Amino acid sequence: MQKSEKESSELQNLSSIDALNLFNRLDKAVVLLTEHGEPIFFNQLFIEYFPEAEANESFFKNVHFYTQKRNQKNFMLREWIDSFKSSKQTRLSTEQIWLKYTYLNKYIPITLKINKITLERKLQLLLTIEDHSLEREYYAQSKLVAEHFAGQFITDGNGFITQPNTAFCDYTSLSKDQLSKLNYINWLKKQVSFEMPFDLVMSTLLQSHHWTGNVTVFNEEEATFKAILSLSMLVDPKNNIEHFIGVLQDLTDIKQAEKEIDQLSNFDVLTGLANRTSLNQHLKQTLSLKGKGHESIYCFFLLGLNEFDIINDTYGSKVGDELLVQVANKIDQFVIGSSITARLDGSHFAVLIKMGTEEKSIAGSDASQQAFKLLEEINGKYKLSKHSLHASASVGVCLYPFDEIEESEFSAEQIINFASMALYKARKQQDHFYFFDQSLKESAFKYLELIEALNHSELDNEFQIYFQGQANKDCKIVSAETLIRWFHPVLGIIPPSKFIPIAEKGRQIIKIGLWVLHKAFLQAKAWYKLNPDFRVSINISPVQFHEQSFIEIIIGLIKFTQIKPHYITLELTEGVLIKNSNLAMQKIQHLVSLGFEVSIDDFGTGYSSLSYLQKLPIHELKIDQSFIAHLNDNPDDDAIVESIIQLAHNKNLKIVAEGVETKQQAERLIEKSPDILLQGYLYSKPVPAEEFEAKFLRRHLTTD
Ligand code: C2E
Ligand code: CA
Ligand code: CA
Repeated sequence: MQKSEKESSELQNLSSIDALNLFNRLDKAVVLLTEHGEPIFFNQLFIEYFPEAEANESFFKNVHFYTQKRNQKNFMLREWIDSFKSSKQTRLSTEQIWLKYTYLNKYIPITLKINKITLERKLQLLLTIEDHSLEREYYAQSKLVAEHFAGQFITDGNGFITQPNTAFCDYTSLSKDQLSKLNYINWLKKQVSFEMPFDLVMSTLLQSHHWTGNVTVFNEEEATFKAILSLSMLVDPKNNIEHFIGVLQDLTDIKQAEKEIDQLSNFDVLTGLANRTSLNQHLKQTLSLKGKGHESIYCFFLLGLNEFDIINDTYGSKVGDELLVQVANKIDQFVIGSSITARLDGSHFAVLIKMGTEEKSIAGSDASQQAFKLLEEINGKYKLSKHSLHASASVGVCLYPFDEIEESEFSAEQIINFASMALYKARKQQDHFYFFDQSLKESAFKYLELIEALNHSELDNEFQIYFQGQANKDCKIVSAETLIRWFHPVLGIIPPSKFIPIAEKGRQIIKIGLWVLHKAFLQAKAWYKLNPDFRVSINISPVQFHEQSFIEIIIGLIKFTQIKPHYITLELTEGVLIKNSNLAMQKIQHLVSLGFEVSIDDFGTGYSSLSYLQKLPIHELKIDQSFIAHLNDNPDDDAIVESIIQLAHNKNLKIVAEGVETKQQAERLIEKSPDILLQGYLYSKPVPAEEFEAKFLRRHLTTD
């Protein structure tokens, strides 16, 4: 300690060198304070703690005491000392508090004690600081040991088990008390059977201070389990034995943990079926056998639940999950033997079966039968906890090895891909299952080619908007629907039914849709000048509609093109309303508040048809062309059209019938509803804007 002159004189005033020497020998940090609480002396240990401390007033500026370190709640040292001074007590101590010294970046758990002492007839205060850091650390460590899942014990120097943790007591079925009377060697002899001679275990332990190996434990309750035992010997520098430490780990626990990890990484958490990773591994295994004398044929089924998204969106994901679990159970029970069942993602399941024949045609017909049976099993009613639903599935089938496919192309991913192509086809053709074949591969290539082309397409050069008129009962064209056309420089004309679904999947529809809106807005504005009653409809893709910034984009376009939304109708499909229906509702309300009219396209083909109509501020229903096609010869279709028209009338909605190709259809529709608008080849095919204008807008201008 560097003592200042002031301090030295103070010390001399004390003149009790003995007392100070005594303080220096204490194993506690000590501060001697004047009766007013000013520090005048720090003992050696204190200086070791706080080498930069100086025994003057500034010390208390650098040391902070907290009752809680979490929110830095101060401990009022000064007040504590004052209250002690004025009390009759000769000694006072705190509970554990926290000390933080400005120069140290940590909190130290301490207890403060204060004593009144009289030195040279002067009252002084002696403050001691007890550091609990080590104790707390030891406590933490012992807690770690106590709560560790492995059994652990420490012996005293004589080998008696003095500190067993809870797991060790559990493993051995012996209490702490019983164990403390047991030498660890006796315990080993009593409960442990080694896979090697006991003498060898002991000599290894004594020589290398450590031994680990597999053992069998027979505990007091006569339970037997396999375990790994580690024994260590701690010695002092002179090789005197201090402790033995033992760690016992139940192998069934380790195996269980391994199993759980395996379960998590290889199995689907929801259904317990294998997951994609382990399916891939199995597929790879079957492929690696090819050409090694194993020419077995495998059949890979990819099963997809139909309209699962709608179930999920309508009833919520909890119900969706419940359904998936039941489907998984059915699939799992259906297949037996060496096959594997897996859940890939969402509502896609896979079944891999080794066929019992090496004959391709037989394998093919067997696979058909299996697919048929699988569907029979899955399709039907499901009783869930709160609902009862009907679910059905489609299946894509891929048999392999496959002659037409080059070996290099053969991979686990590819098989899944091929089966997905077949599943896609199965769904599209409303077939229950479909086998992958070469033609599918070709169409898949075409699909990829389209994606490529879409990504490189130049909107202004390759795309054009066409217009198809909508006529009233007097054959006057009063409005037009905007329909996009793609003229690819190499691939030729690609119809929207081909590229829109792909553009929706790859989200290029957002860019394309914006382009259509822009062009159609400008066209509608130009035609408004020719005929202020003329309306233009624009198709909005669900993907485009659900885009977060859809409304902002529309508002921006209105400003940019200076159009008035009231002569524009936006066509949405029913599907739009099922997904996120609240948000969708808000968006529709917003569009209507901007001045647009909203039409429900392809009406009658959706699922939840009626309920949302009550809540939505829509203006028009477009009867889907599938009902118009057989209007005159199918009474069912006639009845559907009739009820849609009734509904529209009740709700005061405009009606458009699309796909009107014959006079008979038109007449029947007008008969049902004289105010209906008719759209179809009977009046006009979709044509470019100039042609449309010349045919239907200019002519009317001149003839009206
Ligand atoms: P949609 O909105 O239902 O359009 C009506 C479709 O029926 C058009 O096919 C039209 O050409 C066709 N059509 C019109 N009258 C008749 C008829 O009398 N008989 C028959 N058989 N068909 C008729 P298109 O132009 O091939 O468009 C197909 C679909 O592509 C549209 O169905 C629409 O869903 C979508 N689409 C077209 N343009 C756009 C667009 O700009 N944006 C979006 N998102 N989708 C569009
Ligand atoms: Ca449409
Ligand atoms: Ca339509």
